[in-house]
Amino acid sequence: MKLDDFRRPAHTGSNRCWPCTTVNMGLVGLLALWLYRRDRRLASLAAVVAGSLAVALRGYVVPYTPAFAPKLVAALPVPTAPFEKEPDSPRLERASLTATDLDGETILGELATAGAIEADGEVIRPAEPVDDAWHREMDRLAELPLAALAKETAATVPTIPTADPFEDGNSEWLAVEGALIARPVAVAELAAYRALSDPVTDQRVRLAGARAFRMFLDSCPVCATALTQSSEVSCCGGYTDPQTEPDDLLVCPTCEQRLYTFPN
Ligand SMILES: [Zn+2]
Repeated sequence: MKLDDFRRPAHTGSNRCWPCTTVNMGLVGLLALWLYRRDRRLASLAAVVAGSLAVALRGYVVPYTPAFAPKLVAALPVPTAPFEKEPDSPRLERASLTATDLDGETILGELATAGAIEADGEVIRPAEPVDDAWHREMDRLAELPLAALAKETAATVPTIPTADPFEDGNSEWLAVEGALIARPVAVAELAAYRALSDPVTDQRVRLAGARAFRMFLDSCPVCATALTQSSEVSCCGGYTDPQTEPDDLLVCPTCEQRLYTFPN
C-alpha cells in the first residue's frame, strides 16, 4: 500500500481542521500514557508513532471527530483564535462554473418569469419540463470520465476558456483559471445550463440560474447519495469563529464535497 492511498487531502493541508487535530493528538497521548503506565512501553511508543502519522496524513484518527471536535473546542474556556481557519485558499474561491454578479432575488424573479421555476405553496421548485431535462443531463454527465467532462464544460460554457481534470486523493475537480470546482458541482451546473437553454434567453440569467439550481438538489449528481444538511461548524475543514453565524450547507457525505451553501 502506498502512503498516498492512506492520505486524505479533504482533511489535511489547507483543509486541516485544527480543533480535530488538537483533540486527536490529545487522545493519542492519553492512549500512549495509559499503555506506558501499564508497562507496555513498546505498545505505547507504537501508539504515539502510528497515531501521529495517521493524524498528519489523514487529519484525524478517531472516527467522527469532525462531528464533535469543533463543538468540544468551542466549549472549552480557552481562546479559540489559534484554531480559526485561514481564509479559504484562492484556489477554492471559485466554487461555481457560472457565477455572475446578479443578486439572488433578481435571478429567481427572472427564472420565474421565464417559467423555469414555479411556486408550490411555500416552496419554489424547477418547472417539470426543465427539471426532467436537468436530471436526464446530470445522469449523462455523471457517466463521463473526468477529462471528457472538463472538455465538454469548456466547449459549452462561454465564460470558461479551458477546464482541466484534477484529482486530489479521492476527490475529483475541474481546474478552471487556477480555481477548483468540485465534480458534482460541475455536473449539476453544466446540466442546468443546458436544461435552461429553452426557457431562458438572457445569457446572464441562464448562467446565474444554472448555479442557483444547485439548491434544488436532493441527491448527489455523481454518486446518487442523499445530500445532508450541515452547518460549517460541524463540518471538518470549515470551522468558523463563534462570532459569525455558520452558513448552512448541502453536502455529499460520500464525495465529501459541498454542493450548495445557503446564504445567511
Ligand atoms: Zn457524491
